[in-house]
Amino acid sequence: MTSTAKHQILIIGGGTAGITVAARMLRKGYTDVAVIEPSSVHYYQPLWTLVGGGQAEASTTERTESSVMPKGVNWIKNAANGFDPEHNTVTCADGAAYEYDVLVVCPGIQLDWASTEGLVEALGHDGVSSNYRFDLAPRTWDLIRNLRSGTAVFTVPSGAIKCAGAPQKIAYLAADYWRSQGVLSEIDIHLVMPGARPFGIPAIADSLDAVIADYGITLHANSEVTAVDAASRKVSVTSVAAGGTGAMLPYDMLHVVPRQSAPDWIKASPLSTGDAYGYVDIDKRTLQQVRYPNVFSLGDAGSSPNSKTGAAIRKQAPVVVDNVDSFLKCQPLRASYDGYSSCPIVTSSHAVLLAEFDYDFNLESSFPVLDPTTPHRSYWYLKKYGLPLMYWNLMLKGLV
Ligand SMILES: Cc1cc2nc3c(=O)[nH]c(=O)nc-3n(C[C@H](O)[C@H](O)[C@H](O)COP(=O)(O)OP(=O)(O)OC[C@H]3O[C@@H](n4cnc5c(N)ncnc54)[C@H](O)[C@@H]3O)c2cc1C
Repeated sequence: MTSTAKHQILIIGGGTAGITVAARMLRKGYTDVAVIEPSSVHYYQPLWTLVGGGQAEASTTERTESSVMPKGVNWIKNAANGFDPEHNTVTCADGAAYEYDVLVVCPGIQLDWASTEGLVEALGHDGVSSNYRFDLAPRTWDLIRNLRSGTAVFTVPSGAIKCAGAPQKIAYLAADYWRSQGVLSEIDIHLVMPGARPFGIPAIADSLDAVIADYGITLHANSEVTAVDAASRKVSVTSVAAGGTGAMLPYDMLHVVPRQSAPDWIKASPLSTGDAYGYVDIDKRTLQQVRYPNVFSLGDAGSSPNSKTGAAIRKQAPVVVDNVDSFLKCQPLRASYDGYSSCPIVTSSHAVLLAEFDYDFNLESSFPVLDPTTPHRSYWYLKKYGLPLMYWNLMLKGLV
């Protein structure tokens, strides 16, 4: 294997985490920063919920990768596919290899569509859609606005996923739309989730229980959709504890969210935790890999047990950058991540509950005047306009 180049700081993935870290490294004065990123397009995924709910255009969620790549960063348009951390080397799909002094790993999460029986065959037609794909989010809206009666099923998978609230947000947006059209009573809505309650913080779960009751949604707690039969338009709903084949539930419209895990090539690498999810094995406070001190990870691909969101990355990126800086100066790592994450739970076309919390599920409100356990109209404006503006203009430029 021949090495084609060496960079002081090599970042894998030019998504939310990679671009934010790259911009911050440049601002700290580092000049030899490279990002390995195969895609020509960069997405702002949080708006896909509003696209699916008919409140935003898909085109507003994408920009060219070149427009977000910080000036001065060396963009390597390639896909990484292996690590040799003993020799500080990353290999790519075309055989090229890159050396580094410090490696930051953030290639995002893998959508495991195939791990639910029948889902690959059903997805994208015959009433089945998912906001977890850019191309399908507009289709979710088509399904919602065309349904006038029947059964709608919304699924939450088991295991960690990106934006754990997104699978239920679309159920609330759909119900709100059907109410506005006067057809809510004609539609039997089911929300299938593996958790006992709709949120891990009791006060917020209470609030969401009220939302679910208000829309007349049937909640299947402690359950998961384990198979989709597109031909008969039925899903199999299995008890998480009991397993087995489960009861069949018919659907006219199905919004699915797939199980998720680290990309397979991360799972198979020496950087992985080695468990079934296979995320990059990092210290949850310093975000440093536990065996290779010159490797860091953040975002959806890291093993830190925070809720996987862009909001979490906003707090993780400065920690990674400070700790990389300390590492390169042979100083102790001082920056620590407290597990902050935030989930703007859209409960209707004009209200959002903004849940902000840390590793211990302590509420951490950025806007203390508003009760963080109930939905507010002002947070809807924040979600639709404020956060995207902040993302493109401040976060990706390393300013917040
Ligand atoms: C429907 C939906 C709703 C969401 N709602 C919210 C929300 O309301 N609030 C919130 O904060 N977050 C939300 N999120 C989550 C948020 O978008 C993610 O947590 C965030 O984008 C993760 O950033 P990341 O950099 O880890 O991964 P990504 O942003 O996904 O970027 C990963 C990058 O790595 C690249 N890559 C992939 N493979 C390779 C490879 N082999 N080599 C090199 N590069 C590679 C990809 O092309 C991509 O550019 C939502 C997500 C979805 C899907």
